[in-house]
Amino acid sequence: MNALIEARGVSRQFVVGQRLFAAKPVIRAVIDVDLTVLSGEVLGIVGESGSGKSTLGKMLLGLIAPDRGTIRMAGEDLTAIERRTLARLIQPVFQDPYSSLNPRKRVAAIVALPLAVLGIGSAKERRARATAMLERVGLPARDAEVYPSELSGGQRQRVAIARALIVGPKIVLLDEPTSALDVSVQSQILNLLLDLRNDLGLTYVFISHNLAVVEHVATRVAVMYLGRIVEAADREAIFLNPRHPYTRALLDSVLTPEPGLGVPDTGLGLAFPNPLDPPAGCAFHPRCPEAGPRCRIEVPRVLREAGLVACHLYDGGTSAA
Ligand code: SF4
Repeated sequence: MNALIEARGVSRQFVVGQRLFAAKPVIRAVIDVDLTVLSGEVLGIVGESGSGKSTLGKMLLGLIAPDRGTIRMAGEDLTAIERRTLARLIQPVFQDPYSSLNPRKRVAAIVALPLAVLGIGSAKERRARATAMLERVGLPARDAEVYPSELSGGQRQRVAIARALIVGPKIVLLDEPTSALDVSVQSQILNLLLDLRNDLGLTYVFISHNLAVVEHVATRVAVMYLGRIVEAADREAIFLNPRHPYTRALLDSVLTPEPGLGVPDTGLGLAFPNPLDPPAGCAFHPRCPEAGPRCRIEVPRVLREAGLVACHLYDGGTSAA
């Protein structure tokens, strides 16, 4: 399988707020991330709110630029790819189908809009393609005539998926695509996404705070914590043999009664740290049940010898200083 996305050393920080006579507060949203997405795979990116996963997703979409590092898409530097070409390489589906669809447009016009922007086909052809794509995502042709407000949340997300697929992208970046939906509707949308991937040969980057959802769809999983990828491995390895203590805590959270709702309770006692004032050393150390003195002062290296894990336990076998 060839690499469709290759991110190397990607970082992005944001200045937040204003302070007179003092350094402005900075959030390091993404820190030195390496990531490869192979053609045909479903890469799940998981982490709590504030882990940097959505910022990473926006950089992969070209919506925001990294401060450092490079992103290559289908072998080309992302910054050199013309926007129309990029639109045919990668398309997004976001969490909230209520706000991502124009309420004043009928569904057919919403789905056909990317074709119009790219200058593809006549108005009649675009409409026919939009109707066919709506049927492909499980909506009847008559829904082409309605407004988004006349549809349920699940139906609106099907419209958003149809809009993403209409230009035939290679990659779809799905950012919490089912988080706003009822649990019963979530599984319908996930199964639809899997069918579409198989039928159309798509590659997915699937961003979620919910490991149970990621387990359902991903072929490989990257776990983020405070801007860094702390573990990445094939799905089986992550779920059967998680190595990073944070991955293990996230997996425990899947066993909570309603894993589809909100940020998981990791059972770690302490809340997610303030990204404006991250802990020194391993950023996970205040919550880590296995933290030792070394963890408080030294950022763990990313170890690639057997998959990817960033934890002192695997770098000399001890978290002791
Ligand atoms: Fe825990 Fe230390 Fe590993 Fe960080 S480096 S996850 S604190 S054991």
